[in-house]
Amino acid sequence: MRALRLTQWKSEPELVEVPEPTPGPQQVVVRIGGAGACHSDLHLMGEFEPGTLPWNPPFTLGHENAGWVHALGEGVTHLRVGQPVAVYGAWGCGTCARCRVGVDPYCENPAEAPVPSGGGGLGLDGGMAEYELVPDARHVVPLPEGLDPVDAAPLTDAGLTPYHAVRRSWHRLAPGSTTVVIGAGGLGHVGVQILKATTATRVIAVDTRPEALRLAEECGADLTVPSGDTAAEQIRDATGGLGADLVLDFVGADATLRLGASVARMLSDLTIVGIARGTLPVSFFGVPYEMSVQTTYWGSRPELVEVLDLGARGLVRPRTTRFALQDALGAYERMREGSLLGRAVIVP
Ligand code: NAD
Ligand code: ZN
Repeated sequence: MRALRLTQWKSEPELVEVPEPTPGPQQVVVRIGGAGACHSDLHLMGEFEPGTLPWNPPFTLGHENAGWVHALGEGVTHLRVGQPVAVYGAWGCGTCARCRVGVDPYCENPAEAPVPSGGGGLGLDGGMAEYELVPDARHVVPLPEGLDPVDAAPLTDAGLTPYHAVRRSWHRLAPGSTTVVIGAGGLGHVGVQILKATTATRVIAVDTRPEALRLAEECGADLTVPSGDTAAEQIRDATGGLGADLVLDFVGADATLRLGASVARMLSDLTIVGIARGTLPVSFFGVPYEMSVQTTYWGSRPELVEVLDLGARGLVRPRTTRFALQDALGAYERMREGSLLGRAVIVP
């Protein structure tokens, strides 16, 4: 079968022929319907020195996958061949306190996981191929009625990651609250939809690209603000000087973290999802009182079930552009140059 593989750090992935996987006991092979192209893949191709992450190439890209059960390993009884499924992408040890409740991204026994802090497309072979081997059937989540695997694929990361980031701050998002979404790309435009579908917060979207701001508006943003020198002032004005109860930074650069902290309200959350690896100086008088700052990594398996439900009910619908596997590099090129809206989904 064909697979888009990252063969070494700081390189372009290559479309190569690899053997079709066969499932061992408790494993599942999924025929890929769609594999989302994430900006994290660009970070993987372009930025990381060997030793930055706890795993290394070569592996097949694609950590945002859905499709149909193709083959079941011995002992897997709760799935059937042909069934439409999503792949939960974070693969922890399965037995630690976190994994037992489905919080595999924060596995506390990484030496026992298939790869530490990774999964398919992140250290192990992912879904930018005709088939993906899922090493434990618990990561294969049946799709609810009415959700097509190509539409479901982005929900497993571009949906799940903002869902988790929003959900952990639900208690702050009563009517009268404001949320600022910085970066209305693959994750951010879904984040806006999730905020509108699950809370009564007012949503202000910030992006450098006018077309991304238009998409955010279509997704329900109440106000859009171009990224730049006057963004903080505009957001402060729009909140009566108080600032935002939640800032979701889907970029994570020095400038966006600074913007986030400068528009956060006292008693707020500043949640860093984007991995541009900027830094934020924190000092007693430098940031609002009781502004909590956290990074988040992906989401839990129970949360994926909730996101898929939102997708099946039409409450969350990622804007997607489809690319064939042989055109996957073109999708990343468009992401790099900023001409992609929403999410690119590779359809092998
Ligand atoms: P994307 O390229 O689809 O979207 C990024 C958006 O940010 C674009 O619309 C871009 O115009 C906008 N942007 C860039 N610089 C900006 C700035 N200075 N101010 C405002 N907007 C700006 O990327 P994506 O796939 O949505 O991923 C976003 C980030 O989240 C990436 O860094 C990615 O690696 C990361 N990510 C993190 C997790 C996690 O679990 N923490 C999961 C997936 C992706
Ligand atoms: Zn674990």
